Amino acid sequence: MHHFHYTDGILHAESVSIPTIAEAVGTPFYCYSTATFTRHVEVLSQAFDGSDHLICYAVKANSNQAVLKTMAALGTGMDVVSEGELRRARAAGVPPNKIIFAGVGKTRDEMAYAINEDILGFNVESAAELNALSEVASGLGKTARIAIRVNPDVDAKTHAKISTGKSENKFGVPYSQALALYDEAANLPGIDVTGIHMHIGSQITELEPFRLAFARMREFYQELRTRGHNISHLDIGGGLGVPYRGTNDIPPHPDEYAKVVRDTLGDLGLKFVMEPGRMIAANAGILVSSVIYTKPTENKHFTIIDAAMNDLIRPTLYDAHHDVWPVIERPKSADRVVQDLVGPVCESGDYLGQNQPLPLLEPDELIAFMSAGAYGAVMASTYNTRLLIPEVLVNGDQFAVVRPRTTYDELISLDKIPPWFT
Ligand SMILES: *Cc1c(COP(=O)(O)O)cnc(C)c1O
Repeated sequence: MHHFHYTDGILHAESVSIPTIAEAVGTPFYCYSTATFTRHVEVLSQAFDGSDHLICYAVKANSNQAVLKTMAALGTGMDVVSEGELRRARAAGVPPNKIIFAGVGKTRDEMAYAINEDILGFNVESAAELNALSEVASGLGKTARIAIRVNPDVDAKTHAKISTGKSENKFGVPYSQALALYDEAANLPGIDVTGIHMHIGSQITELEPFRLAFARMREFYQELRTRGHNISHLDIGGGLGVPYRGTNDIPPHPDEYAKVVRDTLGDLGLKFVMEPGRMIAANAGILVSSVIYTKPTENKHFTIIDAAMNDLIRPTLYDAHHDVWPVIERPKSADRVVQDLVGPVCESGDYLGQNQPLPLLEPDELIAFMSAGAYGAVMASTYNTRLLIPEVLVNGDQFAVVRPRTTYDELISLDKIPPWFT
């Protein structure tokens, strides 16, 4: 559920009309809804009511400081994948004892920074990383709490580029090697083994892959216990999908997801850590763009818009679909034209929608790409020397620019001219 809706035929975010924001900041821009972020955190938290749990929002989905502050105010922890994200979480006021550090390539500098911050724990992804962490922690005279990311080798049945739990993916430690690595970890200086971690992929729309992976984690936990490991938490990762196609692909409700967790793992007495990104942020944001031209050709009707792949790369990178809503509502009976929504970037891969049956869109008309709050602004680039676009956060009847559009001067002056030109 989200809080973008038509009121008197005009698209609103909560109580603020989208044309009002467009007038204030220009297009294109991202617009986020506080009420939607809040609702998603609350629904997930309620689903796990009665079970000891910590929601660690996956910062990489949307790392704007205002978004992180919104999460922190709701009491969530954070899952970070770089020193930069750790710094962002700390800057937003998240206490270190609610921060988990994940990722296959943490450098020693990043480890040292996180150990000095005394974060809740590291999710370790290889033997080499484990040894480096042990060296860094003991060098600092400190201890790093760890979970090892176990790759359960299950098919998450999602897009290949966001599947992470199969044996051919780079993530985690193969199930067959994980026990030995836990035994090794227990004997390393500077390492305190506290948990188990898994994360099998993103945009997962069925419960079965989760059920299979959780069942494997159960077996694994029991084996660790027999071997004398003292495990207190199970980090079940993120990955729950969102409805990108209106009401046509409804993913499992958090209540159903929580039931699978309880059915498979509920009796073990473990604390559950979760790392949701997309299910918190995706439907809490839209990308608003303006039509520049229409270009009907023999084979296609192109609608050329001012947003492009550098602003939202999901369609190009993941074959992702975003529903398009005209900001001024059209009657349901309006004639539809199958069209491609393309940006100004010089790439054939620059499209935000393909073969979408939509009302004929007119130049200067505003349109919204729905469900763009996760993996949208965070993946933007300045390719074609296009400026990073503004991010706006709505809260009830207020809105604030939480990241202004960059300027051409800022962008160009990042480059430096070597001395031999002067
Ligand atoms: C990306 C990622 C997440 C978040 O995934 P979502 O599908 O956005 O919920 C959680 N944990 C890890 C380790 C990740 O890499």
